[in-house]
Amino acid sequence: MARKLDTVLVVDIEATCWQNEPPAGQTAEIIEIGLCELDVQTGERGSTRPIFVKPERSDLSEFCIQLTGITPDMLEDAQSFQDACMILRTEYLSHQRTWASYGDYDRRQFTGQCQAMWITYPFGPSHINVKNLLALQLGLKREVNLVKATELLGLVFEGRVHRGVDDAWNIAAVLQRVLLTGHRQG
Ligand code: AMP
Ligand code: MG
Repeated sequence: MARKLDTVLVVDIEATCWQNEPPAGQTAEIIEIGLCELDVQTGERGSTRPIFVKPERSDLSEFCIQLTGITPDMLEDAQSFQDACMILRTEYLSHQRTWASYGDYDRRQFTGQCQAMWITYPFGPSHINVKNLLALQLGLKREVNLVKATELLGLVFEGRVHRGVDDAWNIAAVLQRVLLTGHRQG
């Protein structure tokens, strides 16, 4: 399958969560796949989209509602995880594109959930860990969270922290800076 290098698909997921351990029998599942397309040549951020996903083996806790701002009514017409993965492949060509997320959490959650639910992993092999890349580029002693990263770059975080689509939009801004620095030196 030919790789496409025109756009990087920036992804930030939100998942069911609890203040402490999950209740017995429940496991963290993806409830939002936040997307932001980043044009590699121009550095412009393109379309954004929240894909909401219905949890099947866990409940949306009050703690999770407060953390993410995702409420039960937002999940009423949500996709199954399988359909959400199909949307990524058919509408975003996720299997052909490089995708990026902040840290390794999103990649691990996708991998684990696909394995657990016998669903084809929707992405190809090329994943950028923007958290790690930024720390390397700036020569930081340790990786920093997304809010700190935007501050370090002189940016203002736009939207709500812990909403997938807003996180993805801001991660794309960080990646944009990293890529454009490379372009200038190239
Ligand atoms: P983020 O992309 O930082 O918004 O986090 C992704 C997911 O990690 C959230 O949807 C939660 O499932 C989990 N998470 C993040 N922060 C916390 C926290 N303080 N306590 C529990 N779970 C968290
Ligand atoms: Mg997030």
